[in-house]
Amino acid sequence: MQLDSSVQFLKNVGPKLSKLFLKLGVFTIEDLLYLLPRTYEDRRKLPRISECEPDKINTVVGLIESVEERKVKKKLSVLEARITDQSGVMTAVWFNQAYLKKVLKPYTQILIKGKVEFNLFQKVKQMQVADTEMLRTAEDIRENVGYIVPAYPLTQGLYQYQIRKAISTAIEEAIKLIPDYLPAYLTRQMNLLSAQDALKAAHRPKTDLDLQKGRYRIAFEEFLIYQIRLLQKRLGRQEVKNAPVLNKAPDLLRAYIESLPYSLTNAQQHAIKDIQEDVSSSSPMNRLIQGDVGSGKTDVAVAALLMAVGTEKTGALMAPTEILATQHYIKIKKALEQLGVGVYLLKGNMRAKEKRETLEGIQKGPCIIIGTHALIEEPVMIENLGLVVVDEQHRFGVIQRLKIKKEQTPHCVFMTATPIPRTFMLTSFGDLDKTIIGEMPPGRVPPTTFYMKESNVRKAYEHCRLQLKEGFQLYIVYPLVKESEKIDLQSAMEGFEEAKETYKEFNVGLIHGKMSPDEKKSVMSQFKDNEIQVLVATTVIEVGIDVPNSTMMIIHHAERFGLSQLHQLRGRIGRGGNESQCFLVASPKTENGKQRLKAMVNTTDGFELAEIDLKIRGPGDMLGTKQSGLPDFKCGDIVKDESILLTARKVAKTLLESDPKLEKQEHLGLKRAVEYADSIVMEETLN
Ligand code: ADP
Ligand code: MG
Repeated sequence: MQLDSSVQFLKNVGPKLSKLFLKLGVFTIEDLLYLLPRTYEDRRKLPRISECEPDKINTVVGLIESVEERKVKKKLSVLEARITDQSGVMTAVWFNQAYLKKVLKPYTQILIKGKVEFNLFQKVKQMQVADTEMLRTAEDIRENVGYIVPAYPLTQGLYQYQIRKAISTAIEEAIKLIPDYLPAYLTRQMNLLSAQDALKAAHRPKTDLDLQKGRYRIAFEEFLIYQIRLLQKRLGRQEVKNAPVLNKAPDLLRAYIESLPYSLTNAQQHAIKDIQEDVSSSSPMNRLIQGDVGSGKTDVAVAALLMAVGTEKTGALMAPTEILATQHYIKIKKALEQLGVGVYLLKGNMRAKEKRETLEGIQKGPCIIIGTHALIEEPVMIENLGLVVVDEQHRFGVIQRLKIKKEQTPHCVFMTATPIPRTFMLTSFGDLDKTIIGEMPPGRVPPTTFYMKESNVRKAYEHCRLQLKEGFQLYIVYPLVKESEKIDLQSAMEGFEEAKETYKEFNVGLIHGKMSPDEKKSVMSQFKDNEIQVLVATTVIEVGIDVPNSTMMIIHHAERFGLSQLHQLRGRIGRGGNESQCFLVASPKTENGKQRLKAMVNTTDGFELAEIDLKIRGPGDMLGTKQSGLPDFKCGDIVKDESILLTARKVAKTLLESDPKLEKQEHLGLKRAVEYADSIVMEETLN
């Protein structure tokens, strides 16, 4: 028996069960040993029937004396059994589980779990059974009762007892083969269990402490290996020296900064300095700039692009939507005209003539190219690329590995307004350097946020009427979630009609994702020029839109947005230094939903909101499970085990400082583990 043997060769498994195990991602014996319990149930001391507490969930082991089936109604089948132990008798009932009829045989032992009540009529304790485990043999009893019993993830057709049994066998036969990758000095210093003891403790914990120590060790090891890989990747990048050195731009940069009608905040200056340092080396930059909505990331982006242009290279700015690309283009072109820097807009659907002219312009020499991700899909067009800025990075999902002409290695900056919780920075985004713009330009007043029920929405509308009369502008936002696109679009349309009816004295516009780019552009520019005062929108306005005169926002079905998204949305208003209000209209059905909306009202700090969102919704939801780029940790949970993650990070750093390539004798085990993890990732990307 070897760790990489198929589980089907394990006693009690065989080909049929092994197919089911495959559904849980378990192929080899090693996989099986690392199939860790979801939860545990303390069955060290179960109550006897006489000791069962009424109105509570109890777990009881007893003997089936008799079973009876009753058809109460057409759709309701009831199985009722008399269960005994030395202490007494109870009735167990199963609703609509007629398939159990075959297994609930008199004179067999059974473990049942469920709520116990006192049946006044029959004068006997009665359990409504939620979980049933058959204990046919002495071995079954040993396997399933009397200790802290693990509950494994299940798949249809595979039962808890089968998994428990398979794992017991695997522990017996193969756990001695599990290698210990951690250097002995570390295990000693940190007082960790050995790899084998940790696995045993995770599967068959003797005490709570045992369990905790077991899981700690396993989580720590996988976090450590992951952190080593990230740090090595980053070190490796520093060794690559094929990016252009962009250090000839200080005059151009100064001229741009002086041309601005305001002075940069310290945070903006700091970010520019970080980038400048990065690009004055020939190792490609990979930096994430994280700054709340309105913190002035555009100026930082332009400064970065100018570093390329000043050094005779082209800079490219990628935006997630065409509206945003166009808006950047107009603003940046205007700002750079006087400096003699060419700025071009590349779009997906340009007319032939327009496109030709643009391409001709681009070929004249170093310049700034702005576009949507169509830009990266046609990489050939851009020659001499020195630096790429990806704006509103979070909209692209995972950090885009840019498709850039092979022989070029530009520097890359990613901008995001969605604060990335620390744990993500240590995992999905762990190979990036990071700068935080933690300061707003002076004079910003964060919007005051209110939360109201649908039935009160009129109040918000009337309040807004007053400010509209004073000349300010209003957004009315409807969610657009992919699955229900049609319904959502319809509710935005209806909202539009309603707004027109409500605000007869103003011009009301509508913008949504199904409109053509030209239509969208025209509506946006009307809103910008205050020809439209009320803009009804689906979430297309989320990103980067800048209309300083808008001070009000009403968000319908706010419960359907993520917190970061809501925060982004409300960042659209109050950009002109005026008081602004955001109304969240929602009827959350769950406690979580209520909590999330309350958080929106109580804090204007985007970072705090992102952390709250992460805690409430979990990492998968937040970044999109597939998109998160998060590795599948077997044991560690990046939210719950954050402190283990941080420790692993620290240890990985210290380790690599003394031995960057893990060549010391005591690190060879880790090195192998890292190489193994890398090989798995390679396979996944190849598939
Ligand atoms: P972000 O992209 O970070 O959301 P923007 O770059 O769009 O923010 O900036 C928002 C607004 O703030 C713009 O109108 C911009 O001109 C203005 N702005 C940027 N930096 C400053 C500053 N240092 N002082 C005053 N206003 C600024
Ligand atoms: Mg921006």
